[in-house]
Amino acid sequence: MLQPLVSWFEENQRALPWRATYDPYHIWVSEVMLQQTQVETALPYYERFIREFPTVESLAQADEQRVLTLWAGLGYYSRARNLMVAAKAVVQDHGGKIPSDYDALLELPGVGQYMAGAILSIAFNKPYPVVDGNVRRVLSRIYGWMEENPKALWDAAARLVEAAEPRMINQAIMELGAKVCSFRSPRCLICPVQASCAAFRTGTQDRIPPVKKRPATVHVHLCAVVCTKGDRYLMKAVDGMWEFPMLAELPEGSFEKIGQCRHTITHHRIDVSVYRGKLRTNGFEWKNVDTIPISSLTRKILISDKKHKMHKNL
Ligand code: SF4
Repeated sequence: MLQPLVSWFEENQRALPWRATYDPYHIWVSEVMLQQTQVETALPYYERFIREFPTVESLAQADEQRVLTLWAGLGYYSRARNLMVAAKAVVQDHGGKIPSDYDALLELPGVGQYMAGAILSIAFNKPYPVVDGNVRRVLSRIYGWMEENPKALWDAAARLVEAAEPRMINQAIMELGAKVCSFRSPRCLICPVQASCAAFRTGTQDRIPPVKKRPATVHVHLCAVVCTKGDRYLMKAVDGMWEFPMLAELPEGSFEKIGQCRHTITHHRIDVSVYRGKLRTNGFEWKNVDTIPISSLTRKILISDKKHKMHKNL
């Protein structure tokens, strides 16, 4: 199974910018972005980020607001903050060289078992396994595992990486999961590991891997209040990202409803009613939104306000 899989990867892999290098910093940035984010979404972010911060030293010296501005829209902003703190640690404690040692990597903020395995195998070609959603799906189907068993998965991934070139086999399995062995409609007829696949033999692809129970969706309703002074908006920084005042209920006063938007973060569905009005300004500042990092939800609220202004010809 290994040789057909690696050959398939060599011929069919997508040309992605982080595959044109083995620079551990670039691999690391790409892997951080790809956690919880699709390749197509992450691509332009990665290119902008690497253009502005091409080395770990440049990221270690960066202004946090600038880093968050480049990350804005990707979500899960703690990833960017951890990456910055970790870059500083690499410069201070490792002379600017990303460690090629598993335990040293695990000490960096935001680096867990998966991330350490990805950096060590892809950048340094060391035999460390990776298990992400794609690997879990492919290996569970190949071995025909109907039950969830994380230890068996990591052990199987470790055996594979010992038996082939680490950077090739790890990327090949992830790519197979992304492009061929998809969750809903695996393309078994063109799959290079079809002959070794228990799920294909038994026709159980749709039952493997077992579907994880998702937490019930939590519905949240909030009121966003847009207050302006000229071109500037009343905003507050929360963990480095700037937000409009967000309230469970409107206070007493005169507010005009100008829009409605919805945002989903993991299992939270947030419905936001957008108002214009005046608020007490404790802890808030007047900001120009073009120069600060804002989340996708804040951008949606801003668009509601812009649409309202256009509609009213303000
Ligand atoms: Fe996935 Fe089908 Fe290939 Fe098995 S044969 S690994 S189910 S695509």
